[in-house]
Amino acid sequence: MTATAYQINGMDITDLNTTPDSFTVESSSGKTYHVEYAGAGDSEAVDTWHCNCPARKTCKHIKAVANLVNALIDDDREQLSEWEIS
Ligand SMILES: [Zn+2]
Repeated sequence: MTATAYQINGMDITDLNTTPDSFTVESSSGKTYHVEYAGAGDSEAVDTWHCNCPARKTCKHIKAVANLVNALIDDDREQLSEWEIS
């Protein structure tokens, strides 16, 4: 399966199609971070993600990936085609 890239809020996000899920996120400043699934949170409805950027709390990279993952889970073709760049 080939990687799929999306652009969300000015960030280029590549779905690496790994298990567990992981993504590269290239910020508008050109820095690339790695966001990966870090397991279910306290509630089963809340997934947690880890990003290797310097931010201590939930960063914009994780927020963008979470939005993307929700759209993928919902199979929201309209939203995904809007974001898809390759
Ligand atoms: Zn981050």
